[in-house]
Amino acid sequence: MQAFYCTHYEQAHQKFCEAVSELGWSLELRSLSSPAADRQLVTAVAQHTPVSQAGDRALVITTGLHGVEGFFGTAVLLKLLEQYRQLGPPDCTVLLMHALNPYGYAQCRRCDEHNRDLNRNFLLPGQSYEGAPELYHKLDSFLNPRNGTQSGEPFYAKALMIAMRYGYAAVQSAIASGQYEYPKGLFYGGDQASDLSAWLSERLPHWLQGTEQVMHLDIHTGLGRWMSYKLMFETRLNRSQRQRVQELFRDDELVELLPMQAPNTNRQGLAKDASAHPPYRVQGSFGRWCAQVAGVPEYLFAVAEFGTYPAVKVLRALRRENQLHHWGHSQALETKKASMQPEKEELLEAFCPRSEKWRRVCLDRAVGVVERATRMLLEEGAA
Ligand SMILES: [Zn+2]
Repeated sequence: MQAFYCTHYEQAHQKFCEAVSELGWSLELRSLSSPAADRQLVTAVAQHTPVSQAGDRALVITTGLHGVEGFFGTAVLLKLLEQYRQLGPPDCTVLLMHALNPYGYAQCRRCDEHNRDLNRNFLLPGQSYEGAPELYHKLDSFLNPRNGTQSGEPFYAKALMIAMRYGYAAVQSAIASGQYEYPKGLFYGGDQASDLSAWLSERLPHWLQGTEQVMHLDIHTGLGRWMSYKLMFETRLNRSQRQRVQELFRDDELVELLPMQAPNTNRQGLAKDASAHPPYRVQGSFGRWCAQVAGVPEYLFAVAEFGTYPAVKVLRALRRENQLHHWGHSQALETKKASMQPEKEELLEAFCPRSEKWRRVCLDRAVGVVERATRMLLEEGAA
């Protein structure tokens, strides 16, 4: 199992490319236009084209949009590739995207080389790269302290005070829904579309040419309870899809996220209980954008989120690493070295825990989710 988990980006990229070429799938590489230092930063996309006419259906798995979360994403892709090698790939087009944010992966950061949270960067027509939640302004000095990292600061006490003052849900939403005013701050969505989106807007319609139905899963970590996972649909499901999703994923936590600014009717969502409601609304998320640019009639997109530590601990790790990066003495691209700075170690632990049990259980769950999503895609196409 540990063989699926890599210790640094280069190893992950190499293992992924090797596993793909063993299967004889096609591989497309995209180098980051502004690679830092001497490291080659590459996103790799593997494509399997079925021999039958089932190419009108496509399974898309994307990983590493949040750089450091790529460590788990790689493990999922490597395990899937191994299964495809042993049992044969599914009878549909398969697209596997490795390290969508290779800089963040290599640097052990969640964001990209411009401090952008890429899952807040994919704006839809009519949206603009400006603004921040009202409460974010008030929280800025807490979230993004401009001094070097200090141990022993009363982070948890401050966080508790803030949560008590403004309410936990309001704080979570203000922090994580995305902001466009603090370029060095956490959850910054950027001031323009990324090169990644320019590349994907050209390549995604090409890869999916002739496709009628897509099932797209985007793998993430760091949100939710330890070892649990949520499947969060970003695109609308019709009645029969919703029913099928509820059957197939009946033991799982399902959330249906409505598109931003959609009229909020009394529609029946997927959430089975109040605790399963969307944690917050995000502007500039990847899924709705993919569904718009792909040019595919039926595009289902879900984020599969695997929980690690409590949100406040994950936030502490993000904050410390961001502080180190902008205001500390970070040395560029040093995660390849055997020993990392403690801030980087803490971030890595928050998004890909060392616990063998976490790694095994979450990996099995992720592959199980992909299997069920594939079944749904193939059944639906056959109907
Ligand atoms: Zn993520």
